[in-house]
Amino acid sequence: MMDIPFNKPYLTGKETDYIKQAVATGKISGNGLFTKKCQSFFERHYGFNKTLLTSSCTDALEMAAILCSIEPGDEVIAPSFTFVSTVNAFVLRGAKIVFADSEDLTPNINVAAIEPLITSKTKVIVPVHYAGIACNMNGILDLAKAYNILVVEDAAQAIDSYYLEKPLGSLGHLATFSFHETKNIIAGEGGMLVVNDDTFSKRSEIIWEKGTNRAAFFRGEVDKYGWVDIGSSFLPSDTIAAFLYAQLEHIVDIQTRRKNIWNLYMNGLKILETKGLLTLPSVPEYATNNGHMFYLVCKDLDERSRLINHLKHQGIMTVFHYLSLHKSPYYEKRHDGRELPNSDRYSNCLLRLPLYFELRDQDVEVIIASILAFFGYK
Ligand SMILES: *Cc1c(COP(=O)(O)O)cnc(C)c1O
Repeated sequence: MMDIPFNKPYLTGKETDYIKQAVATGKISGNGLFTKKCQSFFERHYGFNKTLLTSSCTDALEMAAILCSIEPGDEVIAPSFTFVSTVNAFVLRGAKIVFADSEDLTPNINVAAIEPLITSKTKVIVPVHYAGIACNMNGILDLAKAYNILVVEDAAQAIDSYYLEKPLGSLGHLATFSFHETKNIIAGEGGMLVVNDDTFSKRSEIIWEKGTNRAAFFRGEVDKYGWVDIGSSFLPSDTIAAFLYAQLEHIVDIQTRRKNIWNLYMNGLKILETKGLLTLPSVPEYATNNGHMFYLVCKDLDERSRLINHLKHQGIMTVFHYLSLHKSPYYEKRHDGRELPNSDRYSNCLLRLPLYFELRDQDVEVIIASILAFFGYK
């Protein structure tokens, strides 16, 4: 029997060398040598205005919520089909979350569903680029401009992916990335805040460093440092950044391999979509695919459960994803009762297949053959 896990973190080989180098500098707290190397990599490579490494994407989202000056009663529009941190960060500051449904063809937020949800209290829209595939950003940015709303991209899954040739994470006022071990580029736990709107730059550094103006002090811009705002300890130690830097040096090979695997799945399973037996990921014309995730959408929950078991019996581990947040134990009492059928459909029917650097072509072929057999092909 095969033994194919759902995920396997990939090490490029230099991670522990760089951690040793970070240790040898004698400064392993935050904002050290490797933190600066990683941040300048992102600024150079993707043209981001300003980046700050964080301990997680969750932390970066919490920073974003503070920067947006969320106050109790403010409203934030986000998809229901997402990870809790997308919205929990705003709930921590007292926001009310107004959930929008996903698109028919992708789990991304449906732009047409957003405008009717906007009120005078709406402060932020949080598009989530699910599976690294861009949301309809021009639609979202137009609404944001018309109603004077901020946009925070949850780009946790979206490294090295593009919307009309612009890198994801460069489009909102703020954006957040994750380097959790399940993402394309990893640090164990890790994340990053991108500050595209420069009016947030100064304050972002202060919030990052516990509400102090320490960064400005070390640049010699102020002659003493102290407590000037709210904040927290959002920066990771430099050993985390050292690990991350070893990954970034291999971003091209990592992305190439992941996209190859994604294409193998797409080509191998296309016949099932053609026959109307399931739905495969749809990449809109304005978006690229970054090989973060390959999923399929079954016709119902029962079929998905049977497919998971069928694959598990052959040693192939697959997993479903988010449960609609508007129906979560925490939020269902707070939700306004609207039905969000596409979000529920993805909750019940979406299945993620193994996708990691070391997954071999022959493994992918076995997985494809097993899925074809389940649907009565071959
Ligand atoms: C992974 C993920 C997060 C959380 O990232 P962490 O780094 O684990 O905090 C948030 N949002 C989305 C969409 C994610 O996929």
